[in-house]
Amino acid sequence: MADQFDVVVIGAGPAGYVAAIRSAQLGLKTACIDDWLDEKGQPAPGGTCLNVGCIPSKALLESSELLERSREEFSDHGLSGKVTLDLSAMLARKRRIVRGLNQGVTSLLKSNDVKMISARACLHSGRRVEVMPVDGAEHYFIDSENVILATGSRPVDLAVAPLDGEQIVDSAAALSFSEVPQRLGIIGAGVIGLELGSVWRRLGSDVVLLEAQDEFLAMADSQIANDGLRFFTEQGLDIRLGARVTSTTRDDGVIVDYQDADGTHQERFDRLIVAVGREANSDHLFASDCPLAMGRRGQVIVDDHCRTNQPGVYAIGDLVRGPMLAHKGSEEGIMVAEVIAGKQAWVDYETIPSVLYTQPEIAWVGKNEAQLKAAGTDFRVGSFPYAASGRAMAMGDTRGLVKILADVHTDRILGVHMIGNHCSELIAEAVIAMQFQGSSEDLAMTVFAHPSLSEVLHEAAMDVNGLAIHKGRSRRP
Ligand code: FAD
Ligand code: NAD
Repeated sequence: MADQFDVVVIGAGPAGYVAAIRSAQLGLKTACIDDWLDEKGQPAPGGTCLNVGCIPSKALLESSELLERSREEFSDHGLSGKVTLDLSAMLARKRRIVRGLNQGVTSLLKSNDVKMISARACLHSGRRVEVMPVDGAEHYFIDSENVILATGSRPVDLAVAPLDGEQIVDSAAALSFSEVPQRLGIIGAGVIGLELGSVWRRLGSDVVLLEAQDEFLAMADSQIANDGLRFFTEQGLDIRLGARVTSTTRDDGVIVDYQDADGTHQERFDRLIVAVGREANSDHLFASDCPLAMGRRGQVIVDDHCRTNQPGVYAIGDLVRGPMLAHKGSEEGIMVAEVIAGKQAWVDYETIPSVLYTQPEIAWVGKNEAQLKAAGTDFRVGSFPYAASGRAMAMGDTRGLVKILADVHTDRILGVHMIGNHCSELIAEAVIAMQFQGSSEDLAMTVFAHPSLSEVLHEAAMDVNGLAIHKGRSRRP
């Protein structure tokens, strides 16, 4: 007789393990099946985010940023002495952080009585889950009242630049180069291209990003994207827009042919990273007797509560529509667990923040100016530069601004867009204001600590009505 569960979660990334913990917290007998193994062949729950995504990339961004600041800023602070790079120590620190978090997720699952199974899984009809242990043991079945699919995503392949794991690599391998490439090419100037491009540039690479689109960061507010392009170019990232790669040839490096509006070009790189988006992991996830409705790029089709077309089967995270972000997947995991437990639950997809962990950071939530104009919404803009912030001056980085878009008639905040130091933290204040359906006046009437970067957000809110204090004479609407 097969084991019987209330909930089986397939995938232990930030969507799946969070869904499993919340299910168990709500008294549901829960199992979580995941196939990720670390380099020693040990189970490594946490998915892409923890193993080769959010966490290792931020560890390297932090380390490389310190090196850059030591070169560029220390003398201004009256600090001297040369800081040198020990790449293997930097990579070891990154691995320690990842392994520590793997253990953290393992013990969280255990302490919540989630049965963790290290295996590949395949869904059959009647919510029977086939379990294929990673240690090669005989496959078996478990039954469940509910199944949550959370198998995540993988990098999109590019036919003209097939990965070889050495010269032409994906983002996972680009987190572990054993030496700094002298010339690094990156196909795709999206989030991964810019974050990993920043890491390796700071560590000493000449970085060229080849981006197919003519517009830089098309998903961001155009003013913020334009500022970002200027700052990143000033730092030395060579961003080439409208560039279509037509072929790659291996020698001891990679020769890349590409076309843009000016014609055909050739570049040689020591390494090439392909970072042109991700696609859902749905291959071999379900058997033919359990046909799930599928959409584009392998996504499983779901409704607003992440229900699939199969009763009792849910899908969350990168496997389904919406931004491929860890926090979006986690919130869906919590929502689905609560729905299964019979509670009212939802995700507010309008207030999911996006962050680029470049320097300066870029962050936004809600609608941008172009989207509001296209929708015919009347809005007011308030903005404030970091350059007028005492805290930003004390920190030695005054690049950037915060911009708030509010409805002309109701003053409700419709979008907040920012570029600057610590935007990844600042954006949370905007998310909370929007989640509470706040107005620019609500933010303007809130007391912010001085001196703090959040005062930039405060002044931008006051500027919506032309009343920013530290902006000179503003126009009043
Ligand atoms: P995943 O994290 O991909 O986890 C899915 C898990 O399911 C994996 O462990 C996989 O091995 C397992 N699995 C797959 N198929 C099966 C099967 N059949 N049986 C058993 N197990 C299976 N997002 C952010 O929000 N912030 C960031 O800063 C950020 N940085 C990133 C940096 C990089 C370099 C990359 C690549 C991504 C980054 N992301 C970031 C995106 C983020 O990693 C994903 O959105 C997130 O991991 C998706 O979570 P998930 O749980 O849906 O899937
Ligand atoms: P992306 O969609 O952010 O960027 C891909 C870029 O590649 C786009 O600008 C696209 O126009 C370009 N492109 C596509 N095909 C191309 C081609 N043939 N030649 C040249 N350029 C091409 O995707 P990504 O950077 O691969 O990241 C994948 C996902 O991971 C994203 O959805 C993102 O949400 C997530 N992620 C998030 C963070 C974060 O939250 N800070 C960090 C890294 C990754």
